[in-house]
Amino acid sequence: MQTKIFKTDDNSIAEAGRILKDGGLVAFPTETVYGLGGNALMPDSVKKIYKAKGRPSDNPLIVHIADLEDIKPLVSEINDNAKALIDAFMPGPFTVILRKSELVPDTVTAEMDTVAIRFPENETAQRLIRAAGVPIAAPSANISGKPSPTRASHVIDDLSGRIDAIIDGENCMVGVESTIVDATGDVPVLLRPGGITYDEICEIVPETVIDEHILNSLPEGEKPLCPGMKYTHYSPEADVYVVEGNVRAVRKKINELLEQNSDKHCGVLTMSRNTYNDALIIYGGMTNKEYAKGLFANLREFDRLGVDVVFAELCCDDEYSMAVKNRIYKSAGHKVIKTLDL
Ligand code: AMP
Ligand code: MG
Repeated sequence: MQTKIFKTDDNSIAEAGRILKDGGLVAFPTETVYGLGGNALMPDSVKKIYKAKGRPSDNPLIVHIADLEDIKPLVSEINDNAKALIDAFMPGPFTVILRKSELVPDTVTAEMDTVAIRFPENETAQRLIRAAGVPIAAPSANISGKPSPTRASHVIDDLSGRIDAIIDGENCMVGVESTIVDATGDVPVLLRPGGITYDEICEIVPETVIDEHILNSLPEGEKPLCPGMKYTHYSPEADVYVVEGNVRAVRKKINELLEQNSDKHCGVLTMSRNTYNDALIIYGGMTNKEYAKGLFANLREFDRLGVDVVFAELCCDDEYSMAVKNRIYKSAGHKVIKTLDL
């Protein structure tokens, strides 16, 4: 299949919208990561998304809309907490889980009776969804298991030849996927940390709880609330180790690790002014927000440069730490080395 590359002019968006409406697949920028869109109301289109990504069919997709009014037909119930969260965070890097209506095909929700809904803030995404005129099912536009794409070039690397079109738009501002909150019950549950922090959610609904699997690997055989959590995620080719703690302790530990791994091509993703000999260094940013924005691009860059092992510094604790840890712990297969406390 020849994949068309579109820019973001009106004609291109209109044509990409037609492709989506007719059941084709189009990758597009959002503020979180690039999405791989298909017509959410067409089961065959949705099946093509799973196939193009190599995504397990029991991992449901998020349905994207570009008008708050478009939520109603997709759901059977919106409780007061859900309403408050929608008012506060949509449009934005936020996904709400609600009970689904008959309109939503089972292929989108992997047979679950709930549906994940997101209203992206990114203007290109909104223009495309409006041009399509239908809700758009869209997971991240990467091959399953790889780091999510935050630039059009990442999508071209992963999905060229497998989908109808890619919109070559802006780099993603947030860099990690949306915050997911299940608002079906009496108490909302944070299922995935992301662009909207737990503190921000608690300002709207203080009783919101955090799903215990966000930072821990899932015990064998246990079924998560968020099916995606049981899969390997965000893994570059390189072996990743997270080294966590205060700046000096992290630096000391990484220097030891570099010495032990001197036969390998090592890389360090830094969060500090630390320098390291005999390692390829990428500066990821001082704050977790900055670190999150470049995280997936930096992991992909280490692969491009042929690095075998990446040591990732984590030496800042703030309200964005949960989103960063949730992603990088998975990239590392939960190989986390804790040094002295922050
Ligand atoms: P991605 O679009 O690749 O960021 O993945 C979407 C995430 O949303 C996956 O982890 C899914 O398991 C999760 N998700 C989608 N729909 C639901 C749902 N109805 N209930 C719980 N989690 C969901
Ligand atoms: Mg994904």
